[in-house]
Order: sequence, then C-alpha cells, then structure tokens
Amino acid sequence: MSYDNDNIFAKILRAEAPAFRVYETDGALAFMDLMPQVPGHTLVVPKDAAENLFDVDPDILAATILAVQTVAGAVKQAFEAPGIMIAQLNGPAAGQTVFHTHFHIMPRFEGLEFKLHAREVEDAAVLASHARRIRACLPPQPPAP
Ligand code: 5GP
Repeated sequence: MSYDNDNIFAKILRAEAPAFRVYETDGALAFMDLMPQVPGHTLVVPKDAAENLFDVDPDILAATILAVQTVAGAVKQAFEAPGIMIAQLNGPAAGQTVFHTHFHIMPRFEGLEFKLHAREVEDAAVLASHARRIRACLPPQPPAP
C-alpha cells in the first residue's frame, strides 16, 4: 500500500481536519483519539508521510518517541493512572486502521476494561475536557492554528 496524503491524520497534521490537540513539536503532534478505548486515550503521530513504523524517517521517529514519553507522563499525571499502555499497530493484520504511523497512549487501571477499538465516537465536550487536563500537565504550547 502506498501512503495516502489524504488519510485523516495527514489532514489533522495540516489542520484541514479538527482534533483536540495536546502537544506539538517540530517532529510530532499529539491529539485525543476520537473513539477512545479508555478515558484519556491519546495519539502521537510523526510529522512524516509514513504509513507505518518501518517507513518513518529515523530522526523524526526519535522525535516522536520523545513526544510519546512527554505526553504519556502528562496523561499519567492528568488521569492519576497507575499504569500507562503504549500501543503501535503496523498493517491491517495487526489491527491498524489509519495508515499514518501513530502511537496510542492509554491510561490503565486495575479492573477498567478497554472499549472496542475505533468503534464509539466520544462526546466532543468530554474530549475537550480531557485535552485540557493533559495540556495542564505539559509545558505551555503556542496556540493551535
Ligand atoms: P489504528 O487502528 O490505526 O492503530 O488506530 C487508529 C486510531 O485512530 C483509532 O484508535 C481510532 O479511534 C482513531 N481515529 C480514527 N479516526 C479518527 C479521527 O478522525 N480523529 C481522531 N482524533 N482519531 C481517529
């Protein structure tokens, strides 16, 4: 499969589609998952036209994993989560549904089960409030475009 410049994450990166953004660096952007499997489910995407992990420019991948570390720390603090799960799916057989590389950050609690993957769109007000909570645990960022 070749990279589709009009996939939803490419559009979010170009600010052509809306997203509840939480963090941005030169190499990566983080925003709330539209269909969270747990409250606080956040995505981090590299600023590179890369379909999966194997295609990402190594320097951008390094910047992306640093963003994952920073945002995961903020998600952990914002949701007072005892555990944080990082997931990254490559190819339809692994369950990948959006073909722009991304990392999932999911707060985990004993006994709190996941919702099904990419099924139920969360209320915008909930996503906005979760994004605010996470941003409050991150260094200040310039206003979103
Ligand atoms: P994948 O299955 O590729 O690992 O994950 C794709 C993720 O993107 C899913 O968790 C899904 O809920 C999320 N997603 C799908 N469409 C959108 C969208 O338009 N906006 C946002 N923020 N997340 C999306």
